[in-house]
Formats: sequence, C-alpha cells, structure tokens
Amino acid sequence: MNTVFVKTDPERIDEKIMAEAGRVIKEGGLVAFPTETVYGLGGDAFRAESSKKIYAAKGRPSDNPLIVHIAKAEDAGKAGKDIPDSFWLLADAFWPGPLTMIVKKSEAMPPETTGGLDTVAIRFPSHPVAAALIEASGGFIAAPSANASGRPSPTEARHVREDLDGRIDMIIDGGSCNIGLESTIVDLSTGRPQILRPGFITKEMLEDVLGEVELDPTLFKPSAGRPKAPGMRYRHYAPKGDMRIFRGDTEKICARICEELKANEGSRTAVICADDTKDKYAADMVVSLGARDDAKGAAAAVYGILRDFDSEGIEKIYCEGFSEEGYGLALMNRLYKASGFNVEKD
Ligand code: AMP
Ligand code: MG
Repeated sequence: MNTVFVKTDPERIDEKIMAEAGRVIKEGGLVAFPTETVYGLGGDAFRAESSKKIYAAKGRPSDNPLIVHIAKAEDAGKAGKDIPDSFWLLADAFWPGPLTMIVKKSEAMPPETTGGLDTVAIRFPSHPVAAALIEASGGFIAAPSANASGRPSPTEARHVREDLDGRIDMIIDGGSCNIGLESTIVDLSTGRPQILRPGFITKEMLEDVLGEVELDPTLFKPSAGRPKAPGMRYRHYAPKGDMRIFRGDTEKICARICEELKANEGSRTAVICADDTKDKYAADMVVSLGARDDAKGAAAAVYGILRDFDSEGIEKIYCEGFSEEGYGLALMNRLYKASGFNVEKD
C-alpha cells in the first residue's frame, strides 16, 4: 500500500487535507494523526472492518481495545450507554483534553472496536488537527497509538513513518505532540472510579472533582494481578536494549550506574538522567530528561529518546528514577513498563 504523507500547521488547518483524510476514514481506510498526547492511528469506530485493519497494521492483539475519539462531548451518548454523572463532571472539567473515560458500550459500537469487552473507552482530544479530522470523518474515530505494537508511542510524524509506512493510507504531520505520554484512563463503569493508566490528568486532579479515586494496583506491581486495561498487560513502550531503573538516593544511584557502565564497557550503553547528574556518566549516549522536578518536560521527551536509542543500536540502558508525585507517576509508570519492571532500589 502507498502511504500518503501530508502536513498541516495546527494553527492554520488545511481544510482540503482534512476533507480528504475524512473521506479516507469514512470509506474504511486508516489515517494517522497528531493529538496532544501521542499520534493516533484512526479508523471509523462504527466499522468493524476498520478496527480489524488497525490491529493488523500495528500487529496489535485483537483483545486490546481501541479508544473512541469524539469532537463533541454529547456524542459520548452514541458510543456508550448508562453514562454516570461522574462522566459528565469529568468531561466538564477536563475535555477537550488528555482524559479517556470507560463506560458501558452502546449496542451500535462493534465489539471489534472494544476488543470484545462490553465497555468502551471515550476521549475528546484538544489538538485542533485531531478535532478537525474527527468532524470530517463523521464524528467517531477509533484510535490506538500509531506505533507498531510493542514500540514506544510516536510523538512525531516521523516515528509513525518508521513503524507504519506502507501499512496505512495516510499520515498527517501536525508537528510534535506536546504532552508526549498517552492519556489518563479512568474506569467509570463499576461505580468505583479507578485509574487504569496514569497520565497528564493526575489522580489529585480527578479527586478534586470526584472525591476518592483508586489506582489499579497492578500499575506498579505486576504481581498484584491482571491489569484492567488490556493494553497495560503487554510488554509495551519498550526499547530494544536491556533497560534497568535505579531508584533511591541520587548519589547512590549515580554510583551504581557508573559501576554498571564500567562493567559493560564492551556494550553500547546509554543513560537517562536529569540535568544535575548528566556530567557524571561516561556512556555512548547520556540523555538528560531536564530538571529533576519537571515531569512535564521529561514526559514529553521520553519516547523520542527511547526510539533514538534503538536507532543508535544501544544495548544497555541505565535510567535514574524520578519522583512519582503528581504527573511524575505517569512518567515512572511508562519507564517501569519500558524496562519490563527491571528496577533496583538503593
Ligand atoms: P492506546 O491508545 O494505544 O494507548 O491503547 C488504548 C488503551 O486503552 C489500551 O491500553 C487499552 O487496553 C485501553 N482500553 C481501551 N478500551 C478499554 C476498555 N473498554 N477497558 C479497559 N481498557 C481499555
Ligand atoms: Mg499504544
């Protein structure tokens, strides 16, 4: 298949491109597009065939459901049913934005889109290109992240191209995604709100609106059982090299990483650290995620960095642990997953 590449400035959207991309989706094709979190791979959410094509293009297991993207909050009533008040409260507070909510699915929503579950994940993104594409496509785009299954999520159009060129109809380049980690997922289908995937909208922000919100206990402890979001069960976000995370006192972890670098001098090595330690390491690549307390800056950079390690043939990755406060929880969740939960505490 020939993949068409187009580019649009999010500030001045090219309506002709949007009309063409909308037509591709309405006719059952797949279009990758930017959102404020990561690039998505979109198809018509109400067409079972489109969802099947998304799984095939990504090499994604078909029991891992897609997120239904809408461009008007009230359209949630067509994707889902029995929608609780908590959903509308959170929609008022955080939509359009990086929050995905799970409710019972409507009869019309095909099981292919929801990975066979009787619930559906719904999000109203704030990125202007995403909103314009959803409208041009008829209002309901099913989309997971636009990476090949198992690779880090794409935060730039060239990442999508690396993974999916020749496998989808179109890629819309709308620049870099400014958040850079996937949306927060909160399950509202059971009466007890639970975060299935942490993201930019933090537990504290959700609790300000709803009162107590739980965290899926498996997020930081795989031995606690099966994660409720099927996507969190798979090794995911993973670079090709072996990755280990070092947590604890900064001086101690710095010393441990230096020891590992010495012991692995024959391998291609990389370190992920913060500005205050970046001069301490002698590795093939030393990348700072920025100031130690700036989770937003760090999160926006991290997937691009993991991809760079792959293209540089890095075999061993040593990563400093960062704070798990607030948005830091989402950053550390992705780093733990990228490492396959290979964590050393001082
Ligand atoms: P992605 O957009 O690639 O991050 O994938 C969507 C994520 O949403 C995956 O982790 C899915 O498992 C999760 N998800 C989608 N629908 C549901 C649902 N109905 N219940 C639980 N998790 C879901
Ligand atoms: Mg994904």
